[in-house]
Amino acid sequence: MYDSYEMGNQHNSLKKLAILGSTGSIGQQTLDVIRALPDKFKVIALAAGSNIELLHRQIQEFKPRMVYYQNQELYSKPKDCEFVTIEKMACHPDVDLVVVATSGKAGLLPTIEAIRCGKMIALSNKEPLVMAGEIILGEIKKQQNRQPVILPVDSEHSAIWQCLNGEAEKPARIILTASGGPFLNYSLYQMENVTVEQALQHPSWKMGKKVTIDSATLMNKGLEVIEAHWLFEMPYNRIDILIHPQSIIHSMVELADGCIKAQLSVPDMRFPIQYALTYPERIPNPTLPMLKLDQIRNLQFEKPDYHRFPCLRLAIEAGKTGGTYPAVLCGADEVAVDLFLQKRIRLTDIARLVEKVMSMHSPVYHPDLDTIMEAENWARETVKKLLNGAN
Ligand code: MG
Repeated sequence: MYDSYEMGNQHNSLKKLAILGSTGSIGQQTLDVIRALPDKFKVIALAAGSNIELLHRQIQEFKPRMVYYQNQELYSKPKDCEFVTIEKMACHPDVDLVVVATSGKAGLLPTIEAIRCGKMIALSNKEPLVMAGEIILGEIKKQQNRQPVILPVDSEHSAIWQCLNGEAEKPARIILTASGGPFLNYSLYQMENVTVEQALQHPSWKMGKKVTIDSATLMNKGLEVIEAHWLFEMPYNRIDILIHPQSIIHSMVELADGCIKAQLSVPDMRFPIQYALTYPERIPNPTLPMLKLDQIRNLQFEKPDYHRFPCLRLAIEAGKTGGTYPAVLCGADEVAVDLFLQKRIRLTDIARLVEKVMSMHSPVYHPDLDTIMEAENWARETVKKLLNGAN
């Protein structure tokens, strides 16, 4: 996907953005970056789910021309705004960059639409690539211009992308780092009894609830392996994971000659967001925290424990087997995480439910979009059935 780093003519006018998922964690942090660099960007479209109160404040501040939110009939239309669908927003001719900061499968169709319309996409939503990587890659390859189409916002993938800038060849290996989450040193027995509040206390990153729970089970890292596989067209046996509790190195690439390049910063999502927004430029942002290496005593690395973190194994298996398995993984995990957040199941039940649903699935290989969506839905329903059956 990143064979060539040539960019079109850079112009100094404001980059016009559509932000899908503006009220989520990444959406809000994207607006923080834009607030800090007001002469670089103009927000022309905002889309959100159900946090209408925050969206209205964002509309007042950023004055977009286009908006989207759910249950529009319940609210009066904001002044000087046009209601459009997310897909239409993603393809609007005036939009220079589409920020896909939605969560779950919500970003899948707009991402594909945006690629078909020739847009550049800053992508933080993992599920589009995890569920439909083959289709997305196919769509990207149909595009004639060879500039990067997807600018990764996930910190690990942003790090790999930054390390690969200027490299003509594929790396020998990608090394994804993982903080290990709040339960890195817990025994399996201790993990059975953790609370939602404990699981939401991520040691280093500020993220949304779903990603924070996925980070506690390491499901998130497994999804990132699949994401890296498609984004950098790397076989699974050349993607490694290293636990790095300090979260200072955001990922690494090992090059053909054995040299390793790493990208470092304070763990703050505004760094990868800003790089995707300003790419290929680097712009000083006084609101970002600078890394003080002399205050960091050490950087540790260890191998992940697949026994205590079965979600990691399940995700990698789903990725390697391919077909509709990754969509089933995503659907089952999303419902299971939600059940955990509602305190209806234990943290360790997430892996049990996901594994059970995956074992019940009859996969379809090289699925089309409808088949992927159906598989995801089937997985959701199956988790609910399993839970109701068990109660
Ligand atoms: Mg990440």
